[in-house]
Amino acid sequence: QDKAKDKVKFGEIELSPKVAKAIFDMGFEEPSPIQAKAIPVIMQGKDLIGQAQTGTGKTATFGIPMAETLNPRDGRVQALVLCPTRELAIQVAQEISKIGRQNDLKALPVYGGQSIDRQIRALRYGVQVVIGTPGRILDHLSRKTLRLNNVRMVVLDEADEMLDMGFVEDIEAILKETPEERQTLLFSATMPGPIQQLARQYMKEPEFVTISRDKLTVPLIEQVYYECKESQKVDALCRILDMEEIGSSIIFCRTKRGVDELVAALETRGYFAEGLHGDLTQAQRDRVMKKFRDGKAELLIATDVAARGLDVENVTHVINYDIPQDPESYVHRIGRTGRAGRKGIAITLINYREYRQLKLIERVTKARIQRRDLPSMADIVE
Ligand code: ADP
Ligand code: MG
Repeated sequence: QDKAKDKVKFGEIELSPKVAKAIFDMGFEEPSPIQAKAIPVIMQGKDLIGQAQTGTGKTATFGIPMAETLNPRDGRVQALVLCPTRELAIQVAQEISKIGRQNDLKALPVYGGQSIDRQIRALRYGVQVVIGTPGRILDHLSRKTLRLNNVRMVVLDEADEMLDMGFVEDIEAILKETPEERQTLLFSATMPGPIQQLARQYMKEPEFVTISRDKLTVPLIEQVYYECKESQKVDALCRILDMEEIGSSIIFCRTKRGVDELVAALETRGYFAEGLHGDLTQAQRDRVMKKFRDGKAELLIATDVAARGLDVENVTHVINYDIPQDPESYVHRIGRTGRAGRKGIAITLINYREYRQLKLIERVTKARIQRRDLPSMADIVE
């Protein structure tokens, strides 16, 4: 039987029937731009650096080649994905499991905060793809409960975030445990100097794939701002929440304490809000995320770190209760809405002193953030 005839088209990409079925079941019809450009390169076995905004389908960009090339009958770890947070590790593992479902490919998330014994048992059972945060991966390596000597593919996902979080030495230590002849892929929304340096040191003539270098923001997102006094922020937020048709929304605060205070303030006003930040135990975080995904909490109040890379479906609004510290963080935050072609709205609250910061964000991201006036009580009470 002619193998080529069995191939199924996904845009210009040819997939095996099993992988094609799996992704069609996930609702994918066409490859996203980064997928269209990067998957053929990865399938040739080349190293690759992929730069694209959040929400553009980077996970499947490496997930699809994994499902096409890894051997599910070999229980040894053949691919390793490093990512910055536990939530992201879980999310990526889920996506790869779905893509590899028809092939029986096993993907395991390995992260701090979960019982290590459970992870050790799961690893022993046999998995092809391990997705982990650097700290916990190192922990397993030192216990010899994870072996990377059979790894063919290493992915550094959300590399800029991992560097921001100080993981660079951990990443280097992990890479040294993998075979020289591995394929290395690096994905990042931004390409600051240290990432380029990491790439130079650990990758072999990587191909660059960049999607819309000059436009950092996602076009489908409507971006607006409101100005109000610091002391009136909670009130202003509530008015906006009442006026806009808010579905699931993520609200960003600068600090953990800010998150807790806002959750309390919103709860006393009758909103269903849940806080997400680094002081929560893993069980608490899982509970919060489940409530939010199930729609039992409509508002997720989070710090930047806690919300990194989260892919939650149908987030209608991202609200910057505190303006982000830098333009890149703005892009990361608002990338939580308007994912995979859906429409989203990003709202930023500022006081008059933060106007310059807003203008800087506009300039760097080339976005247009439109001013809106706060709704008066008359707009809300009918
Ligand atoms: P990124 O890593 O670039 O931030 P993700 O890989 O998390 O983005 O993808 C964002 C969302 O888009 C996910 O829900 C994913 O399942 C979906 N998605 C990815 N590729 C496609 C596609 N080709 N068609 C439809 N949806 C897609
Ligand atoms: Mg991603």
